[in-house]
Amino acid sequence: METKTDNCQQCGSCCWRTTVFATEKEIGLIARMTGKKPEEFSSLEDDDLFKLKYRDTGYCIFLQEKEKFCCSIYEFRPDVCKSFPSDPEEIELCPNTK
Ligand code: SF4
Ligand code: SF4
Repeated sequence: METKTDNCQQCGSCCWRTTVFATEKEIGLIARMTGKKPEEFSSLEDDDLFKLKYRDTGYCIFLQEKEKFCCSIYEFRPDVCKSFPSDPEEIELCPNTK
């Protein structure tokens, strides 16, 4: 089934200054797959909810900034990233929905 992001233009807008929450399980998977410690790429926001860190550029720590933008953990990115765009504000942000 074709989804709204099948034709992603890799503009990176959804990975810039976006608050990406992740569960402990998702953080554990990212840690295992990347070999990084959770504190290197996330901060604990609540009892069991984490937030991915940004770079100085404002982009998510896992966004590769080349000619086009590309998620370096695409296969195991958090569910909030998989479900983007999911609300009117996100749909407005994403050029792929126009
Ligand atoms: S995890 Fe990947 S898709 Fe999610 S904000 Fe970071 S770079 Fe973007
Ligand atoms: S905002 Fe839309 S087109 Fe741009 S990278 Fe994100 S999903 Fe792809």
